[in-house]
Amino acid sequence: MSYFNPPAVTKYTVLNLGAGVQSSAIALMAAKGEVGPMPDFAVFADTQAEPASVYKWLDWLETQLPFPVIRVTKGSLTEETLKVRTKQKSIYSDSPLTYLRTNIPVYGLTPSGEVKAALGRSCTADFKVAPILKEIRKRCGIKHGQKEVTVTQWLGISYDEMQRMKLPSNAWTQHRWPLIEKRMTRTHCKDWMARNGYPEPPRSACYYCPFHDNDEWRRLKTEDPEHFQKAVEFDKTYRRLQNDNAGGLRIEVYLHKSCKPLDEVDFTDKHKDQMSFDFQSECEGMCGL
Ligand code: SF4
Repeated sequence: MSYFNPPAVTKYTVLNLGAGVQSSAIALMAAKGEVGPMPDFAVFADTQAEPASVYKWLDWLETQLPFPVIRVTKGSLTEETLKVRTKQKSIYSDSPLTYLRTNIPVYGLTPSGEVKAALGRSCTADFKVAPILKEIRKRCGIKHGQKEVTVTQWLGISYDEMQRMKLPSNAWTQHRWPLIEKRMTRTHCKDWMARNGYPEPPRSACYYCPFHDNDEWRRLKTEDPEHFQKAVEFDKTYRRLQNDNAGGLRIEVYLHKSCKPLDEVDFTDKHKDQMSFDFQSECEGMCGL
């Protein structure tokens, strides 16, 4: 199997809709007949932690599309991340240990001052990929162990991010990347939307995503102070709960690479403390969803 084999004709076409620039552009291009066949439906996986602008955008986008947008959720990523869990037995102690899962890509500061990046990170798999696949299986009648390729999933990865293309892990689905076929970058998507009279979509990502670079943190702080303040509180609460329920993990967790509390970080310096990721600071750019 190759990334570039012509896709088989399948019974169903489904758009993985992250509601950011790339997948929104694909959805609107499909609506205009510029990419086909018309998806049977789109699926948006809701972490319940997107800023209000994304939900507002999604409400508007639905009114522009001739196919339904199905919203699915595994629940609140925020609550799941801050949930204190109990381990009955461990190698560290005979008595039960309490701990938090590092299921978002946080930075950890070890007692020796070493910074460890993206500890854990199961949020994409658990809160994006799994709910989407579950919904597709249900709607398309996929049977357990099915091998026949029945679904084509369109993914919003643009030409400038093509290194992130991945083949599917299920035999019943195949992936297609309409923007890569059209050699469209993220900038081309924005240009296409402007040319067609559409507004520019907001960035799609959890408001506290540690994949934000300094530009994105600064944008959040100045343009959406309410969610920036919520991110500051999330950062503090996560660290406090993690410290109180370390479960054998001797690290302090931080949302920012500098391992400073978010409200103490200087986001104006473009180089200092900046992330090494060169993607577009949104789940659509990181998770591909
Ligand atoms: S935006 Fe960030 S925190 Fe949210 S699901 Fe994606 S990678 Fe995880």
